[in-house]
Amino acid sequence: MQHLITTADFTKEEILNIFDDARIFLDMESSEVLKGKIIVNLFFENSTRTRGAFEMAAKRLGAQVISLDVGTSSTKKGETIFDTVTNINAMGPDAIVIRHSDCNFHKTLIDYVDCPILNAGAGKNAHPTQALLDLFTIVEHYNGDTEGKKVAIIGDIRTSRVAGSNKKLLPRFGMDVSFVAPDCFKSEDPEFKQYDNISEIIDEVDVVMSLRTQLERHNEMYFSSLHEYAKDYCITKDTFGDRDILLLHPGPVNRNVDISDEMLVDPRNKILEQVRNGVAVRMAILKKLVKDQ
Ligand code: ASP
Repeated sequence: MQHLITTADFTKEEILNIFDDARIFLDMESSEVLKGKIIVNLFFENSTRTRGAFEMAAKRLGAQVISLDVGTSSTKKGETIFDTVTNINAMGPDAIVIRHSDCNFHKTLIDYVDCPILNAGAGKNAHPTQALLDLFTIVEHYNGDTEGKKVAIIGDIRTSRVAGSNKKLLPRFGMDVSFVAPDCFKSEDPEFKQYDNISEIIDEVDVVMSLRTQLERHNEMYFSSLHEYAKDYCITKDTFGDRDILLLHPGPVNRNVDISDEMLVDPRNKILEQVRNGVAVRMAILKKLVKDQ
């Protein structure tokens, strides 16, 4: 049985096969690939896109979905999350999709469940399905030619699980990843080039991935206001000029903090394409983990 805890759980070949399936699913309204299967969604942190996309993906494949309201679950009665998950597992679901703030929780579960665990976001560490849909969006844009492409990830790198997964996944496909952030949001990972300002590398990059400031994960406010932060880190028309750059963001976007209103309607911005791809890529992942094993 295979789980998806980090993107390293899939080989490059497996990822390319997932993308082949995702291309087919993009044009398919519905199928019966997972007919008779039951997928449980357990989201212990807020989510709109990931939860919605997982639910839609499972339903498009013909599965039934149970999205448990963790706000009224037994964790509120003192049960540990571990026990909640093992009890859900005892009911016999075909997969459990989990988002939780604990970076290592998903990993600890795999010896105690009888179905695939799909990581839908683990603290500030990993968000594998987001990184896979980001990669898919880049692959489709460049017709598979990702070798040597330069990607700048800008914003709150330190606490972003999206950066955490992408910095490991994109280099496997030949991409050169660097970070742009103020000191308080810089990565602690010495392996990557880091810049203070996007203007230092804007002429070299092919892809800019903007990230939200994860204020909920910081104990202090480093800026007098988000407006102050935005002066240097918001992607505007001025930042891009007329350069041919792909603009990505995992959402939710803080308008005029992460990306300006103007750039949100610019054709170089592929955010809604990422969202659409997110359903197809998750369909392909569910097919692989639930049906194809
Ligand atoms: N939606 C992404 C996540 O769950 C990014 C964000 O929240 O800023 O990590």
